[in-house]
Amino acid sequence: MNETFADTSQTWIRIRGARHHNLQNLDVDIPKNAFVAITGVSGSGKSTLVFDVLHAETQRRYLNTFLPSSSMALLPTFRREKPQVDSMEGLSPTIAVEQGRFPSQTRSTVGTFTDIYDFLRLLFTRLGIPTCPSCRQPIQSLTLRQMTEALLRSPEGSRVMILAPLQPVPENKLGQLLTSLKRDGFMRVRWENQVHSLDPLPILPRRPQYALELVVDRVSVKPQASGRLAGSLELAARYGQGTVRAVWDSGESVTFSQLPICFHCGYRAEPPSMALFSFFHPKGMCPRCEGSGREPGPRSKKKVGKEDEPFWVQGPPCTACGGTRLNSRALSVHVANCSIATVNAMTVTELTHWLNTLMPLLHEEEILTRIRQEILPRLHALLSLGLDYLSLDRPIASLSSGETQRLRLAQQLAAPFSGAVYIFDEPSVGLHSQDMQRLMEVLRDLRRQGNTVLVVEHDVAVLQEADYVVELGPGAGPKGGRLVFAGTPQQLAQCAVSPTAQFLHEPAAAPIGRGQSPKRWTQFLKILGAKGHNLQNVTARFPLRALTCVTGVSGSGKSSLVVRTLYPALCHALGQASVPSLPYESIVGGEGLHRVLLMDQTSIGRLPKSVPATYCGVFDPLRSLFAALPEARARGYNPDRFSFNSPGGRCEHCRGDGRLRVEMLLLPDFYVTCPHCDGSRYEPETLSVRFKGLSIADVLRLSVTEAADVFRHVPAIHRKLQVMEDVGLGYLQLGQPSPTLSGGECQRLKLAKELARSAPKPTLYILDEPTTGLHPQDVARLTSILHRLVAKGHTVIVIEHDLQLVRSADYVVDMGPGAGPDGGRIVAEGPLNEVVQRFDTPTVRALRASTR
Ligand code: ADP
Ligand code: ADP
Ligand code: ZN
Repeated sequence: MNETFADTSQTWIRIRGARHHNLQNLDVDIPKNAFVAITGVSGSGKSTLVFDVLHAETQRRYLNTFLPSSSMALLPTFRREKPQVDSMEGLSPTIAVEQGRFPSQTRSTVGTFTDIYDFLRLLFTRLGIPTCPSCRQPIQSLTLRQMTEALLRSPEGSRVMILAPLQPVPENKLGQLLTSLKRDGFMRVRWENQVHSLDPLPILPRRPQYALELVVDRVSVKPQASGRLAGSLELAARYGQGTVRAVWDSGESVTFSQLPICFHCGYRAEPPSMALFSFFHPKGMCPRCEGSGREPGPRSKKKVGKEDEPFWVQGPPCTACGGTRLNSRALSVHVANCSIATVNAMTVTELTHWLNTLMPLLHEEEILTRIRQEILPRLHALLSLGLDYLSLDRPIASLSSGETQRLRLAQQLAAPFSGAVYIFDEPSVGLHSQDMQRLMEVLRDLRRQGNTVLVVEHDVAVLQEADYVVELGPGAGPKGGRLVFAGTPQQLAQCAVSPTAQFLHEPAAAPIGRGQSPKRWTQFLKILGAKGHNLQNVTARFPLRALTCVTGVSGSGKSSLVVRTLYPALCHALGQASVPSLPYESIVGGEGLHRVLLMDQTSIGRLPKSVPATYCGVFDPLRSLFAALPEARARGYNPDRFSFNSPGGRCEHCRGDGRLRVEMLLLPDFYVTCPHCDGSRYEPETLSVRFKGLSIADVLRLSVTEAADVFRHVPAIHRKLQVMEDVGLGYLQLGQPSPTLSGGECQRLKLAKELARSAPKPTLYILDEPTTGLHPQDVARLTSILHRLVAKGHTVIVIEHDLQLVRSADYVVDMGPGAGPDGGRIVAEGPLNEVVQRFDTPTVRALRASTR
């Protein structure tokens, strides 16, 4: 053991006898105040250990401290889901920074999620100056006389009240004042809270600080009255303490000098308020799109493209607000000539700059200083995680899962804890090796602040940076769940039994480029003049019947080009339904293709009724097989009897879900195992039919690998299971509810479903980071599957950072050079071996380093 960790002062989290999921009575010690990587092949039990055991137990103990034990007993989740473990010592609070994308229904943006937008709202409320939409002039402090004239021009004059606090006024003066007001046509005057008509004159109070409230009714105010009104108000202000406030029906009141009314046309702006700048609030939201920013339009019945993406992520911008989500009153308020929408559209970098230029412009520094103190650390956290290219108005539902995790991390960094255990799930996802360095620094900083940093990770570069590595395995599912190794990365490299070790010291194992023997491609799919998001009039070529990797730092424009432009453009050309494409000029060379398929990380189903077996088409032949068993035939059961989606053989208490949803105040909903069927989803009679001793429910509990063995003599079932194993999903349970699957698992299921189809016509497959969640061993398998597709005459385009996969590509399109406005161009393109020789980009440098 490494000296540091052998040191007696080292403190540890000690886990004994963990048996959750596939963990096999696991004992493991994790050093505290260290940067620890948990690794192992996919399905070996890493997430189970870290999330379902360590994190769940800490949360449970934490809840225990503030919920009385009697109510804990009522929370079945804690009885049921209690981690199966003998003991755990040395626990500290855990903070899980998870990876899953935000639910697509989420309307939050980067700005609202990080609270930066709230501080911008405050800034605009306090320092914003409304402008008049027709006169295009800032509505700024006017003299009392100008203001009065404007008030009388205001179309809403009849509802304006003027409130002037008064010192005791000499009786005769006030008498004069009121008489003149009446003559000018004012309707009512109010003392304190009593409303008097102007006739007869009220008894004059002599106590100080009474308010005089005038209701201005434009209809009855004589045109020549404005001058006199101003005179009266000046008088009132003189007797008052100099402040005259205008009060609207809504109850808002502003001092006279801030009265947001246009001198020229009497347009009354909404006085700036927090609600005015909120696109969730009726006061601020655009009435046409109700704050979604997208054109409402008729909701089409047929599903278009990615079913998971809501219209406010993808649809065309709302014609009323131009996508800003706010109404014209909100947009008319400016700070330093910018509306809040303009500021919200800025990237992290641009906003930092804008806040700095603001300082000398505004004299009300105190509030600005306070707001800057809140916003700048948040911007800095985003910057240090390589998210500087994100704009605040970006819907968080449109972020990739890696960006999502880094956004959550940034949120934590803005106010970090000390003495906590931070847990990350594959933080390297979506990160170019260049961005990885920055992430590592951030994680090391967290550790320096006295925290333990725990990452579930496959990326060899991360393992090498760790203080300590824990490897689970050796295999997946029942073949994993044991401790393979624990120690420093240097020790891991020497570990003979570790499936990971070889990848630590043999980065050059795979030769660069299968396109070594310069294969000449004659047919190319070409997209011309792509200009969406940050793309700078990009023209890109992709050889047909080849594997192309699209690379580049995150934010360089890979998905904008491939997923948002090329994919929908080709769909359109091939007559397939899809979402609208980002702007481009033309697409050529797609004649040889019959179909295009996007395999991304969006969920394959949100209902627990969807499971891998149903998705991949294994369940139908399984049900037929069960219905054909002698026992089933004798009882007259048909295949439907074995479905949990329709009544007949399923448990009706949970309607075949196997679990029940419990809604709870304050806490998120949770699920309990159905007590009637004990989670099996079926009635006892259905379960009594058995194949090789297994009921249909038992079969759903098998992993793909186990099932492949059980059904090895049933080709219709075996072939499909084999494909699922091929894509690295052998460890997955056939009946695991789809909502619990990770993005990477969903993507690989989509791939498996596709591979199981018999001989499809020439297809373009587009994959977005298919290596997510894959151990290097599994990446090798995935790579060979993709090449198998190419060998069958298909075309594959992959957005990828994993150098192991990139090294095997035929062709590379490298984007950059930077992110956001600094990217959006193609910096290197061609057959892999040529690119490596001819160019010098961050990707090429990383490729060279990895094969040295
Ligand atoms: P890893 O994180 O190493 O990829 P997991 O911890 O996700 O592995 O999975 C380990 C094993 O536990 C697998 O066999 C998997 O099928 C099983 N498993 C994961 N989640 C659940 C669950 N919610 N219910 C039952 N088994 C599960
Ligand atoms: P990559 O796939 O290389 O990580 P993206 O194509 O996602 O890069 O992003 C490229 C640029 O386009 C970034 O500046 C990003 O903020 C911007 N962008 C991406 N998606 C959207 C969107 N839905 N709305 C606005 N800007 C976007
Ligand atoms: Zn049930």
